[in-house]
Amino acid sequence: MNEQKTKPEQEKRRRGWMIALLVAVAVLVSAAAVVITLDGRHVRFHVIGAPEMTIGYRQSFRDPGCTATSNGKLFGEGKYPLTVTVEGEVDSSRLGTYELTYRTNWMLRSYTAKRTVIVADLEAPVITLQTKPDYEPSWFTGYEEEGFTALDDHDGDLTEKVIRREGENEVTYTVSDAAGNVTTVTRPLVFSLGKPEIHLLGDQDQVVNASMSYSDPGFTAVDDQGHDMSAYVSVTGEVIPYEPGEYMLTYSISNRAGEAVTVVRNITVQPVRNPDTVTPDGKIIYLTFDDGPGPYTAQLLDVLKKYNVKATFFVTCLNSDYENMVGRAWREGHSIGVHSASHNYYQIYASEQAFFDDFNTAEDMIYRQTGQYTNLFRFPGGSSNTVSSFNPGIMSRLAYTMTNMGYRYFDWNVTSGDAGETTRTRTVIANVKEGCSEHRVSVVLQHDIKDFSVDAVEEIILWALNNGYTFLPLDESSPGMHHGINN
Ligand code: ZN
Repeated sequence: MNEQKTKPEQEKRRRGWMIALLVAVAVLVSAAAVVITLDGRHVRFHVIGAPEMTIGYRQSFRDPGCTATSNGKLFGEGKYPLTVTVEGEVDSSRLGTYELTYRTNWMLRSYTAKRTVIVADLEAPVITLQTKPDYEPSWFTGYEEEGFTALDDHDGDLTEKVIRREGENEVTYTVSDAAGNVTTVTRPLVFSLGKPEIHLLGDQDQVVNASMSYSDPGFTAVDDQGHDMSAYVSVTGEVIPYEPGEYMLTYSISNRAGEAVTVVRNITVQPVRNPDTVTPDGKIIYLTFDDGPGPYTAQLLDVLKKYNVKATFFVTCLNSDYENMVGRAWREGHSIGVHSASHNYYQIYASEQAFFDDFNTAEDMIYRQTGQYTNLFRFPGGSSNTVSSFNPGIMSRLAYTMTNMGYRYFDWNVTSGDAGETTRTRTVIANVKEGCSEHRVSVVLQHDIKDFSVDAVEEIILWALNNGYTFLPLDESSPGMHHGINN
């Protein structure tokens, strides 16, 4: 019974010791933990210099370093220097933010501290102004940029980004790099004070006769440095050379500062004074032949020569094969006047200039054949024509301007009917006889490109001579026999 009781008791006692032992171990362990915890076991780093540093692009970087000590109540403050290693690198040739990590180990644990290093573009660009030797700005052009460059240590060539501003007294150049560093430089502006001079060629003021064209005698312009500035001169104003009146041409040259040199030429266009009309005494017939020369002109000249009769030819350029007949007629004492080069109403009455162009073409042909220009002409269709009414007023204007230019135009007071009313020689003769009988002074219209009309001339001459008429060629003082103008 006792033994039976003893066995559980021993077991009980052993279990008690076991528990006591476990409790003792637990108490010791927690005491050590408390001691260590209370000691505040850790590492203290000493980062030398600023923990965040900024350095310039390509500036060399030397890490100021970092030390570390152990730290704690139990082991003393900073008593044990620790070994520190550095991780990370700073590349100052690339802009950016870098991190350095300082690391040490203590009591089987790893501890770190950090430093931030920013690599930034701190340098502003450099603007270099170029100068040209002996350069002197001219009055006309003002200052002409001599050149400049802008270079940045990081962004490179920034010349294209330079903002150039020209003020009154200086030029300002400004540029900014990508990092916002701004550079501004200036250069003083020097203007040459010497103005150019404009010299008018010919008389400054001119009095010219009304004519089909006006030619400006011109000008020269030279600046104070002797440069030819003629190309920069602008000429304003207009001269209507066939319209009598007062005109003004203005020659001016301006610089960029808005200053101008101006010279004025006054031009007076005066009408040409025409000889007074003289009506000859006696019974007079002016034979006039339009639209030639042509294939029958030689035959006509032969007849006129036979009776020593002088007539007038208003010529065209329509039959170039017979143009030499114009020379022959001139040499044989006949008068030559302009009719028209083209005889195309719609062309020649389109404008004053169109009329002049056509007229001059005929004048040039006459000059080639006779060596003379003529002041005599007859309007195609006559001055009373209405075929020109597509251009209202053109006949009135042309009659006025042509007269002002010294030309004399002639109409007629006797029609032969050869322009369409008849194709018979006998009718032409009858018409001319009848017409001339009604006037003391007759200007007869015939066309030497019509054979039946040329065939009528000999009989007309014989009739007239037998009846006391005198034949005359038209000249500048002859009666114009003007029709009333209808347009
Ligand atoms: Zn005609």
